[in-house]
Amino acid sequence: TGIRVDVVSIFPEYFAPLELSLIGRARTTGVLDLRLHDLRGWTHDVHRTVDDTPYGGGPGMVMRPEPWGQALDELVPQGAPARLVVPTPAGAPFTQATAYELAAEPHLVFACGRYEGIDQRVLDHAAERMPVSEVSLGDYVLFGGEVAVLVMLEAITRLIPGVLGNADSLADESHAHGLLETPVYTKPQSWRGHDVPDILRSGDHGRIARWRRDQALLRTASRRPDLLAALDPATLDKRDLAL
Ligand code: SAM
Repeated sequence: TGIRVDVVSIFPEYFAPLELSLIGRARTTGVLDLRLHDLRGWTHDVHRTVDDTPYGGGPGMVMRPEPWGQALDELVPQGAPARLVVPTPAGAPFTQATAYELAAEPHLVFACGRYEGIDQRVLDHAAERMPVSEVSLGDYVLFGGEVAVLVMLEAITRLIPGVLGNADSLADESHAHGLLETPVYTKPQSWRGHDVPDILRSGDHGRIARWRRDQALLRTASRRPDLLAALDPATLDKRDLAL
């Protein structure tokens, strides 16, 4: 078990938080073999140039293909199984389902774009020898792919077997079954005039489970009607439909 991840960026310092907390522990236990690389290490001029003006004109700069090509040649030897993941606002949406797919891969290579992005030929050439996923965090534009990769790595690492102490946490959380998670409470029972719902202290596990399911459905209906509409009707019971 375990997964190898290479991240290529002109700002490897962005990834310092990956030493911390559960990702840091996954790295020390070897479940996550994470290696950070400075793209400029694959340049050969004194200025360590990685960008140039866009063909066809327009504002901004584009990342030149040569350093990326060399990086991928070195990180993914011919025939080795790896998937290239390229964050871009023009990509397919990154979802929990994407995280599950990527967590099942033996080797991921993340290419962090900057400026107006990476010369398209890098992706087209890579696709001749490995699967390539262009993924977007959401419908907004960031300065670079680094933060997107931090987000994706958190979502992916949580799903690698052995990373979460209690794998049950994965079963009912938001997006596990196409529903948002129910509200959660802890002690004290009464706080600033707000009480924990009685049912959660009833000890009646059947009724608690039903209440949680109702809350998840109601929340999803009000906040994410798109998720509710996408649910397979076969997963709904009579009580759900009555709600
Ligand atoms: N010109 C590009 C476009 O309109 O599609 C935007 C480039 S953006 C300023 C620079 C880099 O940030 C992108 O190459 C990508 O790596 C990253 N990025 C920006 N927004 C993102 C998003 N929503 N999801 C994933 N990556 C994003």
